[in-house]
Amino acid sequence: MTELSGGAALPQERRVVTAIPGPKSLELQARRLETVAGGVGSVLPVFTTRAGGGVIEDVDGNRLIDFGSGIAVTSVGASAEAVVRRAAAQLADFTHTCFMVTPYEGYVEVCEKLAELTPGDHAKKSALFNSGAEAVENAVKIARAHTKRQAVVVFDHGYHGRTNLTMALTAKNMPYKHGFGPFAPEVYRVPVAYGYRWPTGAENCGPEAAAQAIDQITKQIGAENVAAIIIEPVLGEGGFIEPAKGFLPAIVKFANDNGIVFVADEIQSGFCRTGQWFACEDEGVVPDLITTAKGIAGGLPLAAVTGRAEIMDAAHPGGLGGTYGGNPVACAGALGAIETMLELDLNGKAKRIEEVMKGRLAAMQEKFPVIGDIRGRGAMIAIELVKDPATKEPNAEAAGALAKACHAEGLLVLTCGTYGNVLRFLPPLVIGEDLLNEGLDIIEGAFARL
Ligand SMILES: *Cc1c(COP(=O)(O)O)cnc(C)c1O
Repeated sequence: MTELSGGAALPQERRVVTAIPGPKSLELQARRLETVAGGVGSVLPVFTTRAGGGVIEDVDGNRLIDFGSGIAVTSVGASAEAVVRRAAAQLADFTHTCFMVTPYEGYVEVCEKLAELTPGDHAKKSALFNSGAEAVENAVKIARAHTKRQAVVVFDHGYHGRTNLTMALTAKNMPYKHGFGPFAPEVYRVPVAYGYRWPTGAENCGPEAAAQAIDQITKQIGAENVAAIIIEPVLGEGGFIEPAKGFLPAIVKFANDNGIVFVADEIQSGFCRTGQWFACEDEGVVPDLITTAKGIAGGLPLAAVTGRAEIMDAAHPGGLGGTYGGNPVACAGALGAIETMLELDLNGKAKRIEEVMKGRLAAMQEKFPVIGDIRGRGAMIAIELVKDPATKEPNAEAAGALAKACHAEGLLVLTCGTYGNVLRFLPPLVIGEDLLNEGLDIIEGAFARL
């Protein structure tokens, strides 16, 4: 055993020694504002020195509890031993050849793992890219090549990225789309089964929303014109919305019956985040294509489209790719992350995180009626805040104030949701239970003072 260093050596303890952000972070932030484009924001401008397990250390020596995982990326931690070991070895061997010029084994190995781990026992193939948005764009290219159709159906509250096509696929205007049009054509949006806000109640929501969505598709687009239906099995940026029971299977059946490629965007919900390898497994859904990124490679930039071999092979040779897609260091990182997920049973850990979090949050909801809804699965848990539980009027101010209060005490939390009123919790799956509970104590204290 070599001695631990870097983020792996970071004590798993919260420590607040300055205001947050502290003086050194503020100095760096001033420099950053001079040279980094204003359109690139940061949730909390503390500048990081090390991160690992459930802790982020900043330049002022503060140690924050991490309930964000760099937006659901560092599920294995930000310095997981197997990721560091494999990526460092690959870095020393070679950094890049371009898979489209001379290939290497790591890329193939990642595609083999994806074929094994994704739902369904049909023949599967994959293509690797750098970012989630790029994976979604390529899923559309592949679906169009396979079906020879153009229309793409997406859902209310959906998020799929920031490139031109994925902005079109994304629902929310501010901040993702505002002023950045015109957007790609042939994108159509239909209702999603958002149980908490469904007019006739959560029990009716799944079948009713599916019927509405299918009616809109058949009447407004024509099923025979649709190349792909793309959905996040748990909607991420839109507010950790779990489509009400029955919705996903009904949409999948409609897609199958009409020769439409069903694409599960598991970029946020995949790779053990929800206590399954992929969130769609909970309802036995087998997607035609599945897009992955975020948690796939322990923080290294990698993304994939995986799916039925005959669909994946529809694009002509040379039609898919990119200079860096499936970079060898990122592939090594992915193999390290997958090794860690299996070795530490991170699906089991995610389920345990859900149990602890939902238990504590339910107790808080009894005391604080501002908590309108608690939802999510595994280590992808959110609370939706409202002004009054009867009217369900969104309370974005409370979400902002709570996040701020948590940050000041050294707990990193993120907000999300179409109405900006959702606090989301995405701890690394390797976080210790003591840190998890300490984070929940801070949240409870912040509610009490709100
Ligand atoms: C983050 C995200 C994307 C975009 O991924 P990037 O790597 O930021 O391009 C797409 N879909 C979902 C569901 C996401 O959460």
